[in-house]
Amino acid sequence: MVSTASTSAAVSPESLPDAHGRFGAFGGAYVPETLVTALKELSEVYETARHDPAYVEELHRHLKEFAGRPTELYFAERLTAHCGGAKIYFKREDLLHTGAHKINNAIGQVLLARRMGKPRVIAETGAGQHGVATAAVCAKFGLQCRVYMGAVDMERQALNVFRMRLMGAEVVGVEAGQKTLKDAVNEAMRDWVTNVRDTHYILGSALGAHPYPMMVRDFHRVIGKEARSQMLEREGRLPDEIIACVGGGSNAMGVFFDFLKDESVRLVGVEAGGHGIRQGEHAARFEGGKLGVLQGCKTYILQNADGQIELTHSVSAGLDYAAIGPEHAYYRDTGRVRYAYACDDEVMEIFQLCSRLEGIIPALESTHALVEGVKRAKQMRKDEILLINVSGRGDKDVNQVAKLLGVKLF
Ligand SMILES: *Cc1c(COP(=O)(O)O)cnc(C)c1O
Repeated sequence: MVSTASTSAAVSPESLPDAHGRFGAFGGAYVPETLVTALKELSEVYETARHDPAYVEELHRHLKEFAGRPTELYFAERLTAHCGGAKIYFKREDLLHTGAHKINNAIGQVLLARRMGKPRVIAETGAGQHGVATAAVCAKFGLQCRVYMGAVDMERQALNVFRMRLMGAEVVGVEAGQKTLKDAVNEAMRDWVTNVRDTHYILGSALGAHPYPMMVRDFHRVIGKEARSQMLEREGRLPDEIIACVGGGSNAMGVFFDFLKDESVRLVGVEAGGHGIRQGEHAARFEGGKLGVLQGCKTYILQNADGQIELTHSVSAGLDYAAIGPEHAYYRDTGRVRYAYACDDEVMEIFQLCSRLEGIIPALESTHALVEGVKRAKQMRKDEILLINVSGRGDKDVNQVAKLLGVKLF
């Protein structure tokens, strides 16, 4: 393992990925021939757009007026007192329109679709949060929208399916495989191959083929940029540690990125430990995952010896995926980011604790970061500062939690 100091001195975060979309040994673009041109077009359009002041101005305007940025930096006073250690701050991505950080990326990409003159948008969704964000931006900009969702997820997240349909999206159930996120991504890619001329695929995490991991990360960098200046204003210094949950890895890369060069700031990603680290019972790719290629990129994947994708499990659908974003794989190998995991039972406990102590019901995904945050705050000194990225709100999860707690709502 390379030390933090030598790593950041050797490779600047801004220089990654390279021209081929690689973060060291990870990333790339492993796609069928038909998509090579589409990905190249997307790379070029994105490269031009991000240097175009008109695009940047419009992006910021919609992030403010439609999404509700900047989000607050919030001092979690009672949780801090409860832990008795480090001062805990939340970055409140849960306050964003449609309930999570996903809208940052959806707005950025829908503007690219319009720029490319593509009238049709497709997306995949697991828990439904990315589908809802995509449906919302497509409604706002008058684009046709189709969202692929595993049939099992559709049943679990019926409310989000209805939300998407209210906003005019067509939601297509996927009956293949495990009928969850991975299968929805396969369907979306199949659709894109067929309709690539008039269709843009809004991928929802820092995953997939280049330029998606880079582009999605960039759209979420606003989280870390804001947190940095808010923290400097509030405390006059940077936090000692930042914790975020990691599904594909977009909210985590977004909050981490602008701190990667600050060696005094420890960065921690939290994966889903599910029922515990046993085959098929979790989604912690760094706990037994192996290098492989899934859905466009090379990264750590939960797979068996034959390369078959393993079953995954997490109480939170948004973290329940067999592959992790390639940039995380890179920072895990360099040692710049430490990765932990939280299990379902801990998540259930801290979900209730945070609700009770702070009056904030976090998404089950975000609660994984809170589980690690509570552990770390207790170990840290009172003059230290811990920042937790609360990636989304838990409204979507209350039915599921009630059921798990044996509370009958209807
Ligand atoms: C989708 C989602 C996640 C996981 O996705 P990342 O790309 O890892 O950020 C985390 N939190 C919430 C609230 C989500 O909706």
